[in-house]
Amino acid sequence: MTSSTESHDQDPRDPAPRRAFDDLIAAVDVDELTADTGVVAASSRVDALLEALIECEVRSSRIAARRVELVQALRVEQERAERERADARSASSGGEPWAPEVIARRSTSAEVACALRITPRSADALLARAVTLIGSLPGTVQALWEGRIGFAHAAVIADAADSLPRESRTALEQAVMPCAEAQNPARLKARVRVVRERLHPESIAARKAQAMATRGVFLDPVSDGMAWISALLPAEQAAGAYRRLTEIAVSLEHAGAGRSIGNRRADALADLLLQGSVEASGVGVGVRAKVLVTVPALTLLGRGGGAPASLEGYGPIDDDTARRLAAHAPSFTRLLTHPETGAVLSVGRDRYRVPADLKTWLRVRDGTCRFPGCGRSAAQADLDHTRDWQNGGATAHDNLAHLCRHHHRLKHQSGWSVTQQGGGVLRWRAPSGRVYASEPDVPPD
Ligand SMILES: [Zn+2]
Repeated sequence: MTSSTESHDQDPRDPAPRRAFDDLIAAVDVDELTADTGVVAASSRVDALLEALIECEVRSSRIAARRVELVQALRVEQERAERERADARSASSGGEPWAPEVIARRSTSAEVACALRITPRSADALLARAVTLIGSLPGTVQALWEGRIGFAHAAVIADAADSLPRESRTALEQAVMPCAEAQNPARLKARVRVVRERLHPESIAARKAQAMATRGVFLDPVSDGMAWISALLPAEQAAGAYRRLTEIAVSLEHAGAGRSIGNRRADALADLLLQGSVEASGVGVGVRAKVLVTVPALTLLGRGGGAPASLEGYGPIDDDTARRLAAHAPSFTRLLTHPETGAVLSVGRDRYRVPADLKTWLRVRDGTCRFPGCGRSAAQADLDHTRDWQNGGATAHDNLAHLCRHHHRLKHQSGWSVTQQGGGVLRWRAPSGRVYASEPDVPPD
């Protein structure tokens, strides 16, 4: 490697953050410092290590500033490409067309999530913060670049600024910056909340009305066969309750306009807890949830050693619970699987028609939306013809895959494309030309 004498300290557009970081790592020999040679006093060694740690933090702040710039540049570039594509594209398939800037944001988010191996939610957050920071918080970006604050501080400021009108953002930034430079992110967050409240032009009533749109019910699997549905319950009860709320929410689709499925789940939960039934024409009363439990044949016979049984929407459960659910519980549909390959052998006696069986089989195979990294449940996703029906694609397991509404539209409206590779493996091609594989939840035999 050739050495360089150029400075990396002034220009945010300096293309060498990686080399600067390498220089830093090379500058401190940790082994030498921590070796108990007696040559260097212990207090000096501690000092040197702390100095190096602080310097490391400053550099990583600078890299974070760089990352924000790159994400924003990527989105702008993608937007340019989508505007060019917009005219050429036929607006026929995949639902109501998104605007080019919406496609650009969503496609960039998907590309960033795949390339960095982060969740779609993290990628969305990174993009949103990049837009806010670059677009309206130049002082925060500068502080990050100079290492006066860390990325966690910048994220706190960006998240708060995001919900403020543009003209109030600079005031927020200036008011909280001294705190950001002196305090940890948790203390900063408390300070930011107070300042944001003071600067917000809308009344708390108006903001509550907006926040109401985000109401929902969230199922959060934890270990040891348990799950939170904001009550810690045995996983089978939590999954069953969540599924029942979902089915009620689906049945209430046309009762009360403007409510998302998450809103309707939350309303059904509140109605059931507060008055014992669901209002609005009573739809949903008596709805019983159907939850799939996948049981390897050997487990059902009480001979362990095979793959564990699995509860849809949760994951592995203990054998006793699986046997009990498979034998008795009316709201659980047993799905018997081959003990070694996990291939589906039976979906129960009363399900024979091929399309329904195929649907069930695919739901188990996929588990979630099949866009790489997407965790949305297959149960609420669309079954997409990988190769469009009108282009000769068959209704067959090797041409069908679950896509959530979001990624279904992304596939049809943006530059993303997908092919099936056999064995349930999907190969996604990003607009950038990069390729990502998506493996099935249960590999078929
Ligand atoms: Zn998805």
